[in-house]
Amino acid sequence: MTYDLIIVGGGINGCAIAREAAVNGLTVLLVEKDDLAAHTSSASTKLIHGGLRYLEYYEFKLVREALKERERLLKAAPHLIRPMQFVLPHEGAVRPWWMVRLGLWLYDRIGGKISLPRSRGLKRSDTQFLAPLRRKGKGFVYSDCWVDDARLTLLNAMDAAQHGAEIVTRTALVSARRQGGVWQVELSDGQRIAARVLVNAAGPWVADVLGSAQLPSRSRVRLIKGSHIIVPRLFDGAQAYMLQQPDRRIVFAIPYQDGSTLVGTTDVPVARPEEASITEDEVLYLCAATNRYLGQQITQRDVTSTYSGVRPLYDDGASESRAVTRDYVLEMDADGPPALSVFGGKITTARKLAEEVFDTLAPVAHWRRTASTEALPFPGGDMADFDIFLSEIRANWPFLGEARSLRMVRAYGTMLREMLDGVNDIACMGRDFGGGFTEIEARWMHDREYALTAEDCLFRRSKLGLLIGSTEQIAFRTWWETLS
Ligand SMILES: Cc1cc2nc3c(=O)[nH]c(=O)nc-3n(C[C@H](O)[C@H](O)[C@H](O)COP(=O)(O)OP(=O)(O)OC[C@H]3O[C@@H](n4cnc5c(N)ncnc54)[C@H](O)[C@@H]3O)c2cc1C
Repeated sequence: MTYDLIIVGGGINGCAIAREAAVNGLTVLLVEKDDLAAHTSSASTKLIHGGLRYLEYYEFKLVREALKERERLLKAAPHLIRPMQFVLPHEGAVRPWWMVRLGLWLYDRIGGKISLPRSRGLKRSDTQFLAPLRRKGKGFVYSDCWVDDARLTLLNAMDAAQHGAEIVTRTALVSARRQGGVWQVELSDGQRIAARVLVNAAGPWVADVLGSAQLPSRSRVRLIKGSHIIVPRLFDGAQAYMLQQPDRRIVFAIPYQDGSTLVGTTDVPVARPEEASITEDEVLYLCAATNRYLGQQITQRDVTSTYSGVRPLYDDGASESRAVTRDYVLEMDADGPPALSVFGGKITTARKLAEEVFDTLAPVAHWRRTASTEALPFPGGDMADFDIFLSEIRANWPFLGEARSLRMVRAYGTMLREMLDGVNDIACMGRDFGGGFTEIEARWMHDREYALTAEDCLFRRSKLGLLIGSTEQIAFRTWWETLS
């Protein structure tokens, strides 16, 4: 069989492209050398946002598109994506008041009609927002959204598969060459396959894959590491903080899991994608960034966990890492069977990117658009109202309890009805591995979500690994081995 399309890379971009192509009736194979979202797509700040600070670099098109996508994603995955309020304390020495006010005014309007509350000044009566701040002065409140980045990647892959795509993890593209009017591709499991079109969505490895396919690269990728720290909760409430730093960078402090705060990110150029681990300097930078604003002071010793990812940015020649464009660039090589490589992009704009990939390839590959993903719900996202659906789950399966039902509805949405079909009491959920994680969920991840290792379950399909103790994790790993 010859596939219409082979996609290299199971990050957000590769999975979104697989979904777009499969929805439009193409035969698609996606290969991922590790797990889905194993790299940058699980290491983001987890915001579905326009990117307020990009306005400063005149990235109006990127912000407009991203805000439009924010609206679409909120409707298509209401279980996974939720609105969040951001408190932005004023720091006149970094940016003047009028500049931030103007930026927010534009941010509220540039994406067209929005369903989230518009920005406003911080008021004396905002006691909960002000309480954690060292200086209870002026500031702003604006809205964006929060997402589980790894699960959004997964939902793209699941939806692609539901539309006929083949998703294969732990399998790398080793080499590819043009022969007989198609791409002949060698995979790490020894298989050889043929495809009419090759899409290189290898993120930080985009240049390596170009090399493996003997393709020249006109564009260059700039690898910029970003790290986050997780610390015990720094403030009460569901709001997040956007903290302007003296170097003009932005650091976010966001409520994370139950009882923690996520702080990030940094911008550090790296030479190789494998250099994605946090340094002591980054930890100190992030601690100082929140200490500057929040009353609850932290040191290195408070850090309970960290993660780092490498942004595969398009090299636009900017001198500073923070100024490099966050927009994406598509590089086409149609000198024979077409190949298209993706540089840059954001979690937020992956669907739009995928649409553009399809439309760019369509004339050369003779594809015809038959459907649109613009208003297509993601698996589990077909619900009229999140709160009503949550109440339905709680009424039907009361033994789940408040915290677990909320976590599971957020993770699986309406797919939960299927997972819990025939489950009449807690014993039916099987073994409990701690933190509310039971056998039924682990089996679902194994059977439906391409999880192949205990790690895939504990740290990407969920973040329960951050909550479950080491003894329980060992028990889970042992059980998992018996499953596979
Ligand atoms: C610190 C940080 C914070 C961010 N915050 C946000 C945010 O808040 N909001 C937002 O919208 N965006 C954010 N981003 C941007 C976003 O995370 C990335 O743009 C996006 O995840 C890139 O996805 P990708 O699919 O291109 O790359 P990846 O997720 O890295 O996927 C590429 C995949 O290709 C695979 N691969 C490589 N070579 C091969 C091969 N030969 N064969 C098979 N597979 C291969 C890799 O294993 C990898 O899984 C952030 C990024 C970083 C680093």
